[in-house]
Amino acid sequence: MKDLPVYERFHSWQGEGVHMGKSAFFIRLHGCPVHCSWCDSAGTWHPEHLPEEVERLAPDELAEEAFSSGCEIVVITGGEPAIHNLHDLAFQLRNRNLPVHLETCGAYPIRGEMDWITLSPKWNAMPIDECLAQTDEFKLIVENPDDVPKWSEELPLTQTGAPVWLHPEWSKSKDQAVLGSINQWVKDHGAPYRAGFQLHKLFEVDEEDERSQPVRALSHLPGQETPGES
Ligand code: SF4
Repeated sequence: MKDLPVYERFHSWQGEGVHMGKSAFFIRLHGCPVHCSWCDSAGTWHPEHLPEEVERLAPDELAEEAFSSGCEIVVITGGEPAIHNLHDLAFQLRNRNLPVHLETCGAYPIRGEMDWITLSPKWNAMPIDECLAQTDEFKLIVENPDDVPKWSEELPLTQTGAPVWLHPEWSKSKDQAVLGSINQWVKDHGAPYRAGFQLHKLFEVDEEDERSQPVRALSHLPGQETPGES
């Protein structure tokens, strides 16, 4: 079993999507080649925000920690977790009867058996067909009022039957133009579109676990260069 580079892991609850509110153990892996300008997980990839040492943990060790937490589900996230081979980690988690959820941009083939896949597309790395076909729910990060129509033209969002969550990008979560565009789109189109939010951030629940790291969000860091446009 190959060790995985772990940025943080913690017991919290799922604050987004269909499984919102469920007790969840999060495993956030290092590494992301996508480089969104508003990334809220910059500690996993941005040279100025990486920790001094990258912790590497074995899949069975991670799975045992998750099992000990008593969570209902395990969420593997990043970074972009699909750049890693997740076969052993998913196997170890499922072996302990833990449903395995993956959050990915969908640009890389998924290695490992997942119980739920959330695909959040990024303009810097477009989803591939095999990931689109496996998607259980979409999550669109809305930075600008015209983002939803643009994504709806670009991807077959209404063809799979999967819900399409519309989340304001966190630094725009009080931006009336962004919120208004989501309001109007959902009222005009209905299913599969759903208004969404990162509810866990309001509760600050992730921070209660000492294994979690402070949020490193590019758009929230003073003097931050933005290495890529999303
Ligand atoms: Fe990578 Fe973008 Fe996700 Fe940040 S927000 S981890 S840059 S895909």
